[in-house]
Amino acid sequence: MSAQVTDLIHHPYQPPAGFAAPQPGVFKASTVLFPNVAALRARDWRQKTGYTYGLHGTPTTFMLEERIATLEGGRQCLLTPSGLAAIANVNLSLLKTGDEVLLPANVYGPSKALAEGELQNWGIGHRFYDPMDPAALQAMIGPATKLVWLEAPGSVTMEFPPLAHLAQVCRERGVTTALDNTWGAGIAFNGFDLGRGERLVPGSGADIVVQALTKYPSGGGDVLMGSVVTRDEALHVQLKLTHMRLGFGVGGNDVEAVLRALPSIDVRYRAHDQVARQLAAWLQVRPEVAQVLHPAFEGAPGHEHWRALCGDDGLAAGLFSIVLHERYQQPQVDAFCDRLRLFKLGFSWAGPVSLVVPYDIPAMRGANWKHKGGLVRFSIGLEAAEDLRADLEQALGALA
Ligand SMILES: *Cc1c(COP(=O)(O)O)cnc(C)c1O
Repeated sequence: MSAQVTDLIHHPYQPPAGFAAPQPGVFKASTVLFPNVAALRARDWRQKTGYTYGLHGTPTTFMLEERIATLEGGRQCLLTPSGLAAIANVNLSLLKTGDEVLLPANVYGPSKALAEGELQNWGIGHRFYDPMDPAALQAMIGPATKLVWLEAPGSVTMEFPPLAHLAQVCRERGVTTALDNTWGAGIAFNGFDLGRGERLVPGSGADIVVQALTKYPSGGGDVLMGSVVTRDEALHVQLKLTHMRLGFGVGGNDVEAVLRALPSIDVRYRAHDQVARQLAAWLQVRPEVAQVLHPAFEGAPGHEHWRALCGDDGLAAGLFSIVLHERYQQPQVDAFCDRLRLFKLGFSWAGPVSLVVPYDIPAMRGANWKHKGGLVRFSIGLEAAEDLRADLEQALGALA
Protein backbone atom coordinates (compact mmCIF):
# COMPACT_ATOMS: atom_id res chain seq x y z
CA MET A 1 0.00 0.00 0.00
CA SER A 2 2.62 2.51 1.07
CA ALA A 3 4.60 2.01 -2.12
CA GLN A 4 1.43 2.83 -4.08
CA VAL A 5 0.86 6.04 -2.10
CA THR A 6 4.46 7.03 -2.72
CA ASP A 7 3.97 6.46 -6.43
CA LEU A 8 1.00 8.82 -6.36
CA ILE A 9 3.29 11.51 -4.99
CA HIS A 10 6.52 10.70 -6.84
CA HIS A 11 5.08 9.54 -10.15
CA PRO A 12 7.44 8.90 -13.02
CA TYR A 13 5.09 10.22 -15.72
CA GLN A 14 6.02 13.59 -17.21
CA PRO A 15 3.67 15.16 -19.76
CA PRO A 16 5.32 15.98 -23.08
CA ALA A 17 6.92 19.39 -23.31
CA GLY A 18 5.76 21.98 -25.82
CA PHE A 19 2.12 22.40 -24.84
CA ALA A 20 0.86 25.73 -26.15
CA ALA A 21 -2.49 27.44 -25.62
CA PRO A 22 -3.77 31.01 -25.75
CA GLN A 23 -3.68 31.33 -21.98
CA PRO A 24 -0.61 30.53 -19.83
CA GLY A 25 -0.65 27.59 -17.43
CA VAL A 26 -1.22 28.06 -13.72
CA PHE A 27 1.55 27.19 -11.26
CA LYS A 28 0.74 26.98 -7.58
CA ALA A 29 3.28 26.45 -4.84
CA SER A 30 4.31 27.20 -1.32
CA THR A 31 7.37 24.93 -1.61
CA VAL A 32 9.64 25.36 -4.59
CA LEU A 33 12.03 22.45 -5.27
CA PHE A 34 15.75 22.89 -5.86
CA PRO A 35 17.83 20.44 -7.93
CA ASN A 36 20.64 20.36 -5.34
CA VAL A 37 21.97 22.06 -2.21
CA ALA A 38 24.25 24.36 -4.18
CA ALA A 39 21.24 25.66 -6.12
CA LEU A 40 19.25 26.08 -2.89
CA ARG A 41 22.09 28.14 -1.39
CA ALA A 42 22.67 30.18 -4.56
CA ARG A 43 19.10 31.29 -5.17
CA ASP A 44 18.45 35.00 -4.64
CA TRP A 45 14.79 35.96 -4.17
CA ARG A 46 15.54 39.45 -5.51
CA GLN A 47 16.35 38.11 -8.96
CA LYS A 48 13.58 36.91 -11.21
CA THR A 49 15.98 34.43 -12.80
CA GLY A 50 14.80 31.62 -10.53
CA TYR A 51 12.41 30.56 -7.81
CA THR A 52 12.87 30.32 -4.05
CA TYR A 53 9.50 30.06 -2.32
CA GLY A 54 5.88 30.43 -3.40
CA LEU A 55 5.58 33.71 -1.50
CA HIS A 56 8.30 35.23 -3.66
CA GLY A 57 6.96 34.19 -7.01
CA THR A 58 5.98 31.47 -9.45
CA PRO A 59 5.98 31.57 -13.26
CA THR A 60 2.30 32.58 -13.00
CA THR A 61 2.85 35.54 -10.67
CA PHE A 62 5.94 36.65 -12.60
CA MET A 63 3.87 36.69 -15.77
CA LEU A 64 1.15 38.88 -14.27
CA GLU A 65 3.78 41.17 -12.73
CA GLU A 66 5.35 41.77 -16.14
CA ARG A 67 1.98 42.43 -17.78
CA ILE A 68 0.85 44.88 -15.08
CA ALA A 69 4.23 46.68 -15.29
CA THR A 70 3.58 47.04 -19.03
CA LEU A 71 -0.01 48.23 -18.46
CA GLU A 72 1.24 50.97 -16.12
CA GLY A 73 4.25 51.91 -18.23
CA GLY A 74 6.68 50.83 -15.48
CA ARG A 75 9.53 48.33 -15.17
CA GLN A 76 8.97 46.34 -11.98
CA CYS A 77 5.80 45.11 -10.26
CA LEU A 78 4.83 43.54 -6.95
CA LEU A 79 1.49 41.79 -6.47
CA THR A 80 -0.30 42.16 -3.14
CA PRO A 81 -3.36 40.43 -1.63
CA SER A 82 -5.55 43.54 -2.17
CA GLY A 83 -5.38 47.10 -3.40
CA LEU A 84 -5.29 48.27 0.20
CA ALA A 85 -2.36 45.91 0.88
CA ALA A 86 -0.50 47.60 -2.00
CA ILE A 87 -1.05 50.97 -0.31
CA ALA A 88 0.10 49.52 3.04
CA ASN A 89 3.17 47.99 1.36
CA VAL A 90 4.24 51.42 0.10
CA ASN A 91 3.59 53.18 3.42
CA LEU A 92 5.38 50.57 5.53
CA SER A 93 8.34 50.49 3.18
CA LEU A 94 8.94 54.24 2.89
CA LEU A 95 7.91 55.58 6.30
CA LYS A 96 9.35 55.24 9.78
CA THR A 97 8.70 56.82 13.18
CA GLY A 98 8.97 60.61 12.95
CA ASP A 99 8.20 60.74 9.25
CA GLU A 100 5.10 62.22 7.73
CA VAL A 101 2.91 61.24 4.78
CA LEU A 102 0.61 63.67 2.96
CA LEU A 103 -2.73 62.41 1.67
CA PRO A 104 -5.26 64.13 -0.58
CA ALA A 105 -8.32 65.22 1.44
CA ASN A 106 -10.51 63.05 -0.83
CA VAL A 107 -8.25 59.99 -0.55
CA TYR A 108 -9.64 56.44 -0.78
CA GLY A 109 -11.25 55.97 2.68
CA PRO A 110 -9.37 52.86 3.89
CA SER A 111 -6.06 54.58 3.04
CA LYS A 112 -7.06 57.38 5.41
CA ALA A 113 -8.02 54.79 8.04
CA LEU A 114 -4.57 53.17 7.77
CA ALA A 115 -2.88 56.56 8.33
CA GLU A 116 -5.13 57.29 11.32
CA GLY A 117 -4.66 53.78 12.73
CA GLU A 118 -1.41 51.85 12.42
CA LEU A 119 0.70 54.69 10.97
CA GLN A 120 -0.29 57.03 13.78
CA ASN A 121 0.18 54.28 16.39
CA TRP A 122 3.73 53.81 15.12
CA GLY A 123 4.57 57.51 15.32
CA ILE A 124 4.19 58.22 11.61
CA GLY A 125 2.36 61.50 11.08
CA HIS A 126 -0.10 62.33 8.33
CA ARG A 127 -1.82 65.44 7.07
CA PHE A 128 -4.42 66.00 4.39
CA TYR A 129 -3.84 68.42 1.52
CA ASP A 130 -6.27 70.02 -0.91
CA PRO A 131 -5.57 68.12 -4.15
CA MET A 132 -6.89 71.03 -6.23
CA ASP A 133 -4.29 73.44 -4.81
CA PRO A 134 -0.64 72.59 -5.69
CA ALA A 135 0.63 75.75 -3.96
CA ALA A 136 -0.95 74.59 -0.70
CA LEU A 137 0.71 71.17 -1.10
CA GLN A 138 4.05 72.87 -1.74
CA ALA A 139 3.68 74.89 1.46
CA MET A 140 2.87 71.75 3.47
CA ILE A 141 5.94 69.75 2.46
CA GLY A 142 8.47 69.85 5.27
CA PRO A 143 11.63 67.99 6.31
CA ALA A 144 9.58 65.12 7.79
CA THR A 145 7.53 64.63 4.60
CA LYS A 146 8.76 61.38 3.06
CA LEU A 147 5.82 60.39 0.90
CA VAL A 148 2.95 62.12 -0.89
CA TRP A 149 -0.04 60.11 -2.15
CA LEU A 150 -1.77 61.18 -5.35
CA GLU A 151 -5.16 60.01 -6.59
CA ALA A 152 -7.15 61.01 -9.66
CA PRO A 153 -10.02 61.59 -9.36
CA GLY A 154 -10.73 61.78 -5.62
CA SER A 155 -12.66 58.92 -4.10
CA VAL A 156 -16.50 59.19 -4.29
CA THR A 157 -16.58 63.00 -4.76
CA MET A 158 -14.63 62.65 -8.04
CA GLU A 159 -12.67 65.94 -8.08
CA PHE A 160 -9.98 65.62 -10.75
CA PRO A 161 -6.72 67.21 -9.52
CA PRO A 162 -3.95 68.93 -11.52
CA LEU A 163 -1.91 65.75 -11.26
CA ALA A 164 1.13 66.89 -13.24
CA HIS A 165 1.41 70.04 -11.16
CA LEU A 166 1.13 68.10 -7.86
CA ALA A 167 3.78 65.61 -9.01
CA GLN A 168 6.06 68.44 -10.12
CA VAL A 169 5.81 70.16 -6.72
CA CYS A 170 6.88 66.94 -5.00
CA ARG A 171 9.68 66.25 -7.48
CA GLU A 172 11.10 69.73 -6.95
CA ARG A 173 11.09 69.12 -3.17
CA GLY A 174 12.63 65.68 -3.58
CA VAL A 175 9.67 63.87 -2.03
CA THR A 176 8.65 60.42 -3.29
CA THR A 177 5.18 60.24 -4.82
CA ALA A 178 2.83 57.28 -5.02
CA LEU A 179 -0.21 57.42 -7.30
CA ASP A 180 -3.32 55.34 -6.67
CA ASN A 181 -4.14 54.68 -10.33
CA THR A 182 -7.15 52.44 -9.81
CA TRP A 183 -9.54 54.78 -11.66
CA GLY A 184 -7.27 55.29 -14.69
CA ALA A 185 -6.30 51.60 -14.63
CA GLY A 186 -3.33 52.31 -16.91
CA ILE A 187 -5.88 52.91 -19.70
CA ALA A 188 -7.11 56.52 -19.30
CA PHE A 189 -3.59 57.90 -18.76
CA ASN A 190 -0.06 56.81 -17.89
CA GLY A 191 0.88 57.33 -14.25
CA PHE A 192 4.66 57.66 -14.77
CA ASP A 193 4.67 59.79 -17.92
CA LEU A 194 1.47 61.72 -17.38
CA GLY A 195 -0.79 61.96 -20.36
CA ARG A 196 -1.84 59.71 -23.16
CA GLY A 197 -0.74 59.41 -26.77
CA GLU A 198 0.77 62.66 -28.02
CA ARG A 199 0.09 64.36 -24.71
CA LEU A 200 2.41 62.05 -22.81
CA VAL A 201 5.14 63.96 -20.95
CA PRO A 202 8.09 61.68 -20.01
CA GLY A 203 8.93 61.59 -16.31
CA SER A 204 6.11 63.97 -15.35
CA GLY A 205 4.29 61.51 -13.11
CA ALA A 206 4.68 59.51 -9.91
CA ASP A 207 7.59 57.41 -8.63
CA ILE A 208 5.30 54.55 -7.62
CA VAL A 209 2.00 53.60 -9.28
CA VAL A 210 -0.40 51.48 -7.28
CA GLN A 211 -3.57 49.89 -8.57
CA ALA A 212 -6.36 47.82 -7.08
CA LEU A 213 -6.33 44.95 -9.60
CA THR A 214 -9.59 44.10 -7.86
CA LYS A 215 -11.22 46.66 -10.15
CA TYR A 216 -10.70 46.82 -13.95
CA PRO A 217 -7.81 44.35 -14.37
CA SER A 218 -9.93 41.63 -12.72
CA GLY A 219 -13.22 43.04 -13.97
CA GLY A 220 -15.27 40.29 -12.38
CA GLY A 221 -16.00 41.44 -8.86
CA ASP A 222 -14.57 38.12 -7.73
CA VAL A 223 -10.86 38.76 -7.04
CA LEU A 224 -8.98 40.90 -4.52
CA MET A 225 -5.46 41.92 -5.57
CA GLY A 226 -3.18 44.93 -5.79
CA SER A 227 -0.05 45.99 -7.64
CA VAL A 228 2.91 48.25 -6.85
CA VAL A 229 4.74 49.32 -10.01
CA THR A 230 8.04 51.22 -10.20
CA ARG A 231 10.68 52.24 -12.72
CA ASP A 232 13.59 52.46 -10.32
CA GLU A 233 15.29 49.17 -9.42
CA ALA A 234 16.51 50.34 -5.98
CA LEU A 235 13.05 51.61 -5.03
CA HIS A 236 11.54 48.34 -6.25
CA VAL A 237 13.95 46.28 -4.12
CA GLN A 238 13.13 48.40 -1.06
CA LEU A 239 9.41 47.80 -1.63
CA LYS A 240 10.05 44.12 -2.32
CA LEU A 241 11.93 43.67 0.97
CA THR A 242 8.87 44.98 2.81
CA HIS A 243 6.62 42.81 0.64
CA MET A 244 8.68 39.74 1.60
CA ARG A 245 8.86 40.57 5.30
CA LEU A 246 5.10 41.17 5.49
CA GLY A 247 4.34 37.96 3.61
CA PHE A 248 2.16 39.69 1.02
CA GLY A 249 1.78 36.70 -1.33
CA VAL A 250 -1.06 36.12 -3.79
CA GLY A 251 -2.74 32.86 -4.79
CA GLY A 252 -2.20 31.25 -8.19
CA ASN A 253 -5.91 30.88 -8.94
CA ASP A 254 -6.52 34.57 -8.33
CA VAL A 255 -3.57 35.49 -10.52
CA GLU A 256 -4.95 33.26 -13.25
CA ALA A 257 -8.32 35.04 -13.04
CA VAL A 258 -6.62 38.41 -13.59
CA LEU A 259 -4.45 37.02 -16.41
CA ARG A 260 -7.63 35.80 -18.08
CA ALA A 261 -9.41 39.15 -17.76
CA LEU A 262 -6.47 41.38 -18.65
CA PRO A 263 -6.61 41.01 -22.46
CA SER A 264 -10.10 42.57 -22.50
CA ILE A 265 -9.37 45.45 -20.11
CA ASP A 266 -9.23 48.08 -22.83
CA VAL A 267 -12.55 47.15 -24.44
CA ARG A 268 -14.22 46.70 -21.06
CA TYR A 269 -12.95 50.07 -19.84
CA ARG A 270 -14.35 51.77 -22.94
CA ALA A 271 -17.68 49.94 -22.64
CA HIS A 272 -18.11 50.92 -18.97
CA ASP A 273 -17.10 54.49 -19.86
CA GLN A 274 -19.55 54.82 -22.72
CA VAL A 275 -22.62 53.63 -20.80
CA ALA A 276 -21.62 55.62 -17.69
CA ARG A 277 -21.53 58.82 -19.76
CA GLN A 278 -24.91 58.08 -21.35
CA LEU A 279 -26.51 57.58 -17.95
CA ALA A 280 -24.72 60.53 -16.35
CA ALA A 281 -25.92 62.76 -19.21
CA TRP A 282 -29.46 61.50 -18.74
CA LEU A 283 -29.31 62.11 -14.98
CA GLN A 284 -27.80 65.56 -15.41
CA VAL A 285 -31.00 66.99 -16.88
CA ARG A 286 -33.34 65.28 -14.43
CA PRO A 287 -35.03 67.71 -12.01
CA GLU A 288 -34.18 65.46 -9.04
CA VAL A 289 -30.42 65.83 -9.67
CA ALA A 290 -28.52 68.92 -8.49
CA GLN A 291 -25.12 67.92 -9.91
CA VAL A 292 -23.39 65.08 -11.74
CA LEU A 293 -19.86 64.45 -10.50
CA HIS A 294 -18.10 62.88 -13.50
CA PRO A 295 -14.69 64.26 -14.53
CA ALA A 296 -15.53 64.16 -18.26
CA PHE A 297 -18.52 66.50 -17.76
CA GLU A 298 -18.32 70.26 -18.18
CA GLY A 299 -18.75 71.91 -14.81
CA ALA A 300 -17.66 68.87 -12.80
CA PRO A 301 -14.87 69.67 -10.34
CA GLY A 302 -11.49 69.43 -12.09
CA HIS A 303 -13.01 68.76 -15.52
CA GLU A 304 -10.30 70.95 -17.12
CA HIS A 305 -7.57 68.87 -15.41
CA TRP A 306 -9.13 65.65 -16.72
CA ARG A 307 -9.21 67.14 -20.21
CA ALA A 308 -5.61 68.31 -19.99
CA LEU A 309 -4.42 64.90 -18.80
CA CYS A 310 -6.60 62.46 -20.74
CA GLY A 311 -7.29 64.51 -23.88
CA ASP A 312 -10.35 66.13 -25.47
CA ASP A 313 -11.59 62.69 -26.50
CA GLY A 314 -10.13 61.14 -23.34
CA LEU A 315 -11.39 58.09 -21.50
CA ALA A 316 -12.94 57.84 -18.05
CA ALA A 317 -13.89 54.94 -15.80
CA GLY A 318 -17.51 53.83 -15.54
CA LEU A 319 -17.82 55.50 -12.19
CA PHE A 320 -19.65 58.67 -11.20
CA SER A 321 -21.62 60.24 -8.40
CA ILE A 322 -24.69 62.45 -8.32
CA VAL A 323 -25.79 64.98 -5.75
CA LEU A 324 -29.56 64.93 -5.40
CA HIS A 325 -31.58 68.07 -4.88
CA GLU A 326 -31.40 69.30 -1.30
CA ARG A 327 -35.18 69.05 -0.90
CA TYR A 328 -34.76 65.27 -0.52
CA GLN A 329 -33.98 63.97 2.96
CA GLN A 330 -31.65 61.03 3.55
CA PRO A 331 -34.53 58.50 4.00
CA GLN A 332 -35.73 59.41 0.47
CA VAL A 333 -32.21 59.07 -0.93
CA ASP A 334 -31.93 55.67 0.76
CA ALA A 335 -35.35 54.67 -0.64
CA PHE A 336 -34.13 55.57 -4.15
CA CYS A 337 -31.11 53.27 -3.71
CA ASP A 338 -33.25 50.49 -2.22
CA ARG A 339 -35.70 50.68 -5.12
CA LEU A 340 -33.06 50.10 -7.81
CA ARG A 341 -33.23 46.54 -9.14
CA LEU A 342 -30.38 46.09 -11.62
CA PHE A 343 -28.07 48.34 -9.61
CA LYS A 344 -27.05 46.33 -6.56
CA LEU A 345 -26.00 47.79 -3.23
CA GLY A 346 -22.34 47.07 -2.67
CA PHE A 347 -18.82 48.43 -2.40
CA SER A 348 -16.04 48.18 -4.96
CA TRP A 349 -16.58 48.69 -8.70
CA ALA A 350 -15.53 47.76 -12.24
CA GLY A 351 -17.35 44.45 -12.43
CA PRO A 352 -20.18 43.41 -14.80
CA VAL A 353 -22.88 44.19 -12.23
CA SER A 354 -23.84 47.85 -11.76
CA LEU A 355 -23.51 49.00 -8.17
CA VAL A 356 -24.83 51.89 -6.08
CA VAL A 357 -23.85 53.29 -2.67
CA PRO A 358 -25.22 56.37 -0.87
CA TYR A 359 -22.38 58.20 0.95
CA ASP A 360 -22.51 60.57 3.91
CA ILE A 361 -20.04 63.13 2.54
CA PRO A 362 -20.26 65.68 5.40
CA ALA A 363 -19.13 62.87 7.74
CA MET A 364 -16.29 61.90 5.35
CA ARG A 365 -15.06 65.33 4.27
CA GLY A 366 -16.18 67.71 7.02
CA ALA A 367 -16.94 71.40 6.57
CA ASN A 368 -15.36 71.74 3.12
CA TRP A 369 -18.24 70.01 1.36
CA LYS A 370 -20.54 72.66 -0.14
CA HIS A 371 -23.43 70.50 -1.37
CA LYS A 372 -26.49 70.00 0.81
CA GLY A 373 -28.19 67.17 -1.07
CA GLY A 374 -27.47 63.47 -0.62
CA LEU A 375 -24.66 61.91 -2.69
CA VAL A 376 -25.08 58.61 -4.52
CA ARG A 377 -22.15 56.86 -6.23
CA PHE A 378 -22.73 54.57 -9.21
CA SER A 379 -20.44 51.95 -10.71
CA ILE A 380 -21.73 51.16 -14.18
CA GLY A 381 -21.50 47.49 -15.09
CA LEU A 382 -21.94 45.86 -18.50
CA GLU A 383 -25.73 45.67 -18.63
CA ALA A 384 -27.60 47.28 -21.55
CA ALA A 385 -27.71 51.07 -21.17
CA GLU A 386 -31.46 51.15 -21.85
CA ASP A 387 -32.19 48.72 -19.02
CA LEU A 388 -30.05 50.67 -16.57
CA ARG A 389 -31.71 53.93 -17.59
CA ALA A 390 -35.16 52.42 -17.09
CA ASP A 391 -34.08 51.17 -13.66
CA LEU A 392 -32.89 54.65 -12.66
CA GLU A 393 -36.13 56.16 -13.92
CA GLN A 394 -38.40 53.84 -11.94
CA ALA A 395 -36.27 54.27 -8.78
CA LEU A 396 -36.36 58.08 -9.03
CA GLY A 397 -40.08 57.59 -8.44
CA ALA A 398 -39.16 56.87 -4.82
CA LEU A 399 -38.28 60.56 -4.47
CA ALA A 400 -41.71 61.75 -5.53
C1 LIG B 1 -10.92 49.61 -4.36
C2 LIG B 1 -9.84 50.61 -4.23
C3 LIG B 1 -8.67 50.35 -3.49
C4 LIG B 1 -8.46 49.10 -2.69
O1 LIG B 1 -8.64 47.92 -3.36
P1 LIG B 1 -9.04 46.59 -2.57
O2 LIG B 1 -8.51 45.51 -3.44
O3 LIG B 1 -10.53 46.59 -2.43
O4 LIG B 1 -8.33 46.63 -1.24
C5 LIG B 1 -7.71 51.33 -3.46
N1 LIG B 1 -7.86 52.49 -4.10
C6 LIG B 1 -8.95 52.78 -4.79
C7 LIG B 1 -9.05 54.09 -5.48
C8 LIG B 1 -9.98 51.86 -4.89
O5 LIG B 1 -11.09 52.16 -5.57
